[in-house]
Amino acid sequence: MSLPSLHPCGCPKCHSRKPHPDRMLHRQINLLASRLDEQQRRWFIAFEAMRIGWGGTQRLAQITGLTPPYHPARPSRTRGRAC
Ligand SMILES: [Zn+2]
Repeated sequence: MSLPSLHPCGCPKCHSRKPHPDRMLHRQINLLASRLDEQQRRWFIAFEAMRIGWGGTQRLAQITGLTPPYHPARPSRTRGRAC
């Protein structure tokens, strides 16, 4: 059984020649994501994006190449109405 190929991180830091502390983390995120099935991958990426906080969705999209929405549907906010 062959393993799926590892997605190269697409963030600007990993494309620069300078070493940076998150390079190994980004590689590990892509390694783990490559070993998961589609649903597990989306849950994992969504969890990581929420853990990072503001900008996490965009950062994870750069790292993994996966585009949002990779999270389960959130309850929509109601405008001007009390629930
Ligand atoms: Zn990176």
